[in-house]
Amino acid sequence: TAQVETFEFQAEVRQLLQLMIHSIYSNKDAFLRELVSNASDALDKLRLEAFRDKDLQVDTDDLHIELAVDKDARTLTVRDNGIGMTRDDVVRLIGTIAKSGTAEFLRQVRESQDAAGAQDLIGQFGVGFYASFMVADKVELVTRYAGEAEGTRWESGGEGTYTIEPVADAPQGTSVILHLKAADAEEQLTDYTTPWKLREIVKRYSDFITWPIRMETTKPAVDEDSEPTTEVETLNSMKALWARPQSEVTAEEYSEFYRHIANDWAEPLKTVQMSAEGTFEYQALLFIPSHAPLDLFMRDAHRGIQLYVKRVFIMDDCESLIPEYLRFVKGVVDAADLSLNVSRETLQQDRQIQLIRRRLVKKILSTVKDLRGADAEKYRTFWTEFGRAVKEGLVQDTDNRDAILEICSFDSTLDPEQPTSLRGYVERMKEGQQHIYYMTGDSRSVIENSPHLEAFRDKGYEVLVLTDPIDEMWVDAVPEYDGKQFQSIAKGQVDLDTEEDEERKAEYADFLTWMSESLKDAVKEVRLSKRLTTSPACVVGDSGDLAPNLEKMYRAMGH
Ligand code: ADP
Ligand code: MG
Repeated sequence: TAQVETFEFQAEVRQLLQLMIHSIYSNKDAFLRELVSNASDALDKLRLEAFRDKDLQVDTDDLHIELAVDKDARTLTVRDNGIGMTRDDVVRLIGTIAKSGTAEFLRQVRESQDAAGAQDLIGQFGVGFYASFMVADKVELVTRYAGEAEGTRWESGGEGTYTIEPVADAPQGTSVILHLKAADAEEQLTDYTTPWKLREIVKRYSDFITWPIRMETTKPAVDEDSEPTTEVETLNSMKALWARPQSEVTAEEYSEFYRHIANDWAEPLKTVQMSAEGTFEYQALLFIPSHAPLDLFMRDAHRGIQLYVKRVFIMDDCESLIPEYLRFVKGVVDAADLSLNVSRETLQQDRQIQLIRRRLVKKILSTVKDLRGADAEKYRTFWTEFGRAVKEGLVQDTDNRDAILEICSFDSTLDPEQPTSLRGYVERMKEGQQHIYYMTGDSRSVIENSPHLEAFRDKGYEVLVLTDPIDEMWVDAVPEYDGKQFQSIAKGQVDLDTEEDEERKAEYADFLTWMSESLKDAVKEVRLSKRLTTSPACVVGDSGDLAPNLEKMYRAMGH
């Protein structure tokens, strides 16, 4: 009909679809998790919307997800009566990828040499709705937004274009109809029209979904006189994982829940469960991922905590519950005594939320500290992936500074292969050494070749080698660790010997005056140094000056 419009997919979506169609990801079953996860989100949104907008004309009595199979037509339908999408939503959400990090993700996939590498990458990136194209060669989506009269039908074979048309009689919510690919030789066993197969996948991936996932099954007639019987089964147990006692939940269930909320196909590095009863009742289930998201250092990076109130989903990305430097932590907080009407603005002022936030931060920091003692390899992964973000906390979160310092690792001159804890550094400090010495710079080799280092090396003093741009920030903000001040070896006067050599000074006075005079356009002062052993001279910054790296950074930013 004339109302069918054809659109082209955005270039990134086209690439992503090619990856799905040629399915370099081996775990195809995961498409169902993605669709169920979307349906569950849509039901959460509708419940909240209906609560907030009493005029919304929707029936919320039987919110659920439904799987329907047509063996002859080889279709599998995933249906929900959730919030639905408007026509514009469909074009915006299904035709394009709004997620930051997608372009970077695709570039990495292109550049990864082998299929296994690419598969690894896909595993780190939730592909969502597009995962349908791993198992279907045509996908239809019919949806109607809550409260709207007209629905929208979307259809695509995944090859470059999709069509959109209005639908007069679409039911409330969204149906995704997968026209399943013919099973090829190597996948003879995977038939997504088989009830036991679907039952198994739902149980494995989506058991904790708090909405019923139903499937209608038909039992063949027992004898010639009877009819085949149909029955509706609920496939999942619907238990909110964070509300169940830890002893009853398996590691696998936690992992699947993590994948659901984090949009990550990998395992979490660490699971943290917390609860409090009494005046401030809440439960929290948090995860430290095993790898950093691609947008960790992008401006619009999300915070990973979802807020629930007594099992009712309230919002994603709850920034009031977690500070920016822990933005990589994923999870759920379910608070008992909040109003369902809370907004982002009121949350910021809420005393209960502030209290929960303080506890989450302390718990995460202590968890990482314990991890450092208990599992060195996991701790190393943590630090490699998130260390740069955590160090932002040294500047942002003065209350927890000591706890953050305890989980930091720094390169040092002791061993190029082995970063050190501050605890380790302090334990190795030489007799008479007062400070924790560090030098910041662009790279390890620049620092190692710096004349500033010579005297320290000769004395056997260890020096922290700080090469992240963020290091320049925190060294200025953090005065001390364990009573020892941080001291740059490149700034001001470093007293390696406490007794000043006044005689030498007098001896060289004329020479120094002459040299200061000759160089007065270039330097503030010329003085004798004890930090050099083989180089004849070096240039140092004043203790009040910006470190060279920071100066460069500010200059680059146009200051
Ligand atoms: P993600 O879930 O990570 O946002 P998806 O590709 O899975 O990414 O889905 C993209 C968007 O499409 C969702 O954020 C949601 O807004 C919309 N969407 C997908 N499925 C549904 C659905 N069943 N009901 C309502 N909206 C949906
Ligand atoms: Mg999704």
